[in-house]
Amino acid sequence: SEGQDARLASDNIVVAVRVRPLSQDEILQGETNTVRVGEDGRAMSVVEPGLGGHNMIRNFQFNACLGPGARQQDVFQQCGVRRLLDSALQGYNCTIFAYGQTGSGKSYTMSGKEEVVERISYDGHEEDGLISRSMNYLFDCLDGFRASGQKGFLMKASYLEIYNEQVNDLLREGPEQRVEVKWSDREGFYAEGLLIVDCETRDDVCSVMSEGARNRKVGSHALNKDSSRSHSMMTVYLESNSDGPNKRFGKVTFVDLAGSERLKISKSSGEMVKETGSINRSLFALGKVISALGEGRSKKDTFVPYRDSKLTKLLMDSLGGSSMALMVACCSPALTSVEETLSTLNYATRAK
Ligand code: ADP
Repeated sequence: SEGQDARLASDNIVVAVRVRPLSQDEILQGETNTVRVGEDGRAMSVVEPGLGGHNMIRNFQFNACLGPGARQQDVFQQCGVRRLLDSALQGYNCTIFAYGQTGSGKSYTMSGKEEVVERISYDGHEEDGLISRSMNYLFDCLDGFRASGQKGFLMKASYLEIYNEQVNDLLREGPEQRVEVKWSDREGFYAEGLLIVDCETRDDVCSVMSEGARNRKVGSHALNKDSSRSHSMMTVYLESNSDGPNKRFGKVTFVDLAGSERLKISKSSGEMVKETGSINRSLFALGKVISALGEGRSKKDTFVPYRDSKLTKLLMDSLGGSSMALMVACCSPALTSVEETLSTLNYATRAK
């Protein structure tokens, strides 16, 4: 509702948590639920079994808490996505990203159910994710502008993935996918030679999404990649049709992050510590950027370490400053995932 959007209107970063339902398999295996979401949609708690049967209850608060019963359209509404898209139409940059362990519902939230990922429907499919819903909203806006004789805007899109600090253009195939991150004084960091395609119709956007999803799948099979360790980034560029000083360039970037299960954050100090073994550099750097942005609200000269990874370089103009961001932290409700869930909720708390 409009009221819900307005409630979020004072924040540059909106932090939402979505808890998926237990799967049929988990239920059959006797898995139990450890997460409760409050009725007001702003509070939640996690029951953590302690020694000697003494349970610990941990309480959290976020801009939006979505329980297992939340539908895709509820996520779109209650996270204030329209407000972000409207700001992109006004010439601001926004990021919408999904964080959480593998299997927590990141792709479902961003792209929808696997079978429907590869298309955007006109009338909206029940299980469409945030990307399809956002694109539909933008096309509805465009139709509205046209119907009322206003100039409207041009839409373009690109789709890349970051795997092992290597950027791959998902709108290309094979060895041509590889692109480098460069700096220019005018543009800041950018992926050199990245394909940016015109999207005049909903069908054009469907092609971008399906092409990207297909190339991602093909590439990960061919090179034996662990796809849970890659980040995918779909960017939609919005350019107003007006001329002169009224011309606006905005963009929205949708990021489906790598699984957070290898990223551990120490609870005591709030400092991020490296686990033994490999760590996802981009995910680690994003955590540092987000907490620096959080601190920056109280301290003016906080250093934000954007240059630490490819992901944070590419998001530099879309995180912080006048940009708006939505983080959807995804959680499993299962008792066996309780540690990962708490780690995700701590990460999300640092972003608030
Ligand atoms: P991730 O991207 O975090 O690895 P997925 O989005 O692939 O996780 O979700 C894992 C499985 O759970 C998928 O089969 C997905 O369809 C299902 N799932 C995730 N979230 C929900 C939800 N809110 N409702 C129903 N099914 C869900």
